[in-house]
Amino acid sequence: MFSPVSILVVTALSSVLSILVLTSLRSHAIDGVPRWIWANVIAIASLAMFAVQNVAPAWLGVVAANQLLAATVLLIYEGCNDFFGVRLGTTARATGWIMWLGVMAGIAYFTYVAPNVHVRVVIVSAFHAACVLAIAGRVLMSRPPDRPRYNYLFVAGAALLGAFGHTVRGAIYAVAPPSQTALLQPGPMQITFLALGILVLPSLSIGLVIMAHDRLAMRLERVARFDDLTGALSRKALLEAAAARLARATQDGRREFVAVIDLDHFKSVNDRYGHAGGDDVLRHFASIVSARVRDGDAFGRIGGEEFCLFCTAANIGDVTALVERLRATVAATPCRVAGGAVRYTFSAGIAAWDGRESLASLMARADALLYAAKLAGRNRVNGPVENAAA
Ligand code: GH3
Ligand code: MG
Ligand code: MG
Repeated sequence: MFSPVSILVVTALSSVLSILVLTSLRSHAIDGVPRWIWANVIAIASLAMFAVQNVAPAWLGVVAANQLLAATVLLIYEGCNDFFGVRLGTTARATGWIMWLGVMAGIAYFTYVAPNVHVRVVIVSAFHAACVLAIAGRVLMSRPPDRPRYNYLFVAGAALLGAFGHTVRGAIYAVAPPSQTALLQPGPMQITFLALGILVLPSLSIGLVIMAHDRLAMRLERVARFDDLTGALSRKALLEAAAARLARATQDGRREFVAVIDLDHFKSVNDRYGHAGGDDVLRHFASIVSARVRDGDAFGRIGGEEFCLFCTAANIGDVTALVERLRATVAATPCRVAGGAVRYTFSAGIAAWDGRESLASLMARADALLYAAKLAGRNRVNGPVENAAA
């Protein structure tokens, strides 16, 4: 049913489709995509050369065709390194291409000097197996732990399937070479390995596209989740996290607290240092707090120069002490801006969740305490006195 040439043509067509899909991702500046596009372009050229192997000279149908296909997998591997932000040293990068040149030397030797198609197959299979194994390893080691696994396991699975196929093929040709030798000679063995090839290259390309789409989804989620100026949680993400914390606290019996924090006289910072100076102060403040809150706390910007910190603690005294430390640190750490250093302070209101009230009610109580702190002169942390010793 399948002839070797038809399998090569279908694989080449799938590479054309991969190029079109990957090109649509170019404008998103995803690292790795340019190399993956080139890998597919080179694959098409290589497959075309394989397809005319019977009529073309050996340098084209054997040497160049094999080299280009080998370059394809190496480029896919390098694209994966780019994609995951892995910057290999010059030596490590050169190693792949030196091996590639070694493959070229081997193929040329066993084509012209001591013609032996079996050894050529072993050399090429070993190179491909090493590259696809490296792809699987890179994806498995570098995949982001908090993203859906499927996107990455798909690529690793396709690469491992390729590694299996190339290893078996190389081993068969090393140990008990079949009588049938030419790539385009129809036969069960050639068809099986070509079919594996037809599966692996397009599956890898589809997998790369899936990974790239996950990268886009990740970026969008990050934009929605974090405030782009300060890196603190966005208002929406903070309120969602807070609602989830209260729901969990109901089940676990944990004590939840909120501190509503507002920078003092921030308008005058803007007036004096400009809006950009004000932005610097907001970033400065958020970086001080982010560096000091615990992993389990939720810190976000709820608007303008107003922030919120949700945390779990044994009693309100611990939370007051934490926010008081933050207040002292901020007051003692000026922010460098163009035109000087800004000394600034904040005021905060802290409330303890009563176990029943809504999130809005909890925040309104903290807000009222913040307002009282402002009235009392600013640069102060205001918690409910009756709870302070709880
Ligand atoms: P108070 O001590 O009573 O809180 O006084 P304030 O000046 O801090 O408060 P007010 O609400 O009068 O002013 C807040 C200012 O924050 C006004 C607004 O222009 C500024 N602001 C809000 N969002 C941003 C922002 O993203 N960047 C900058 N630079 N300024 C902002
Ligand atoms: Mg303010
Ligand atoms: Mg305000």
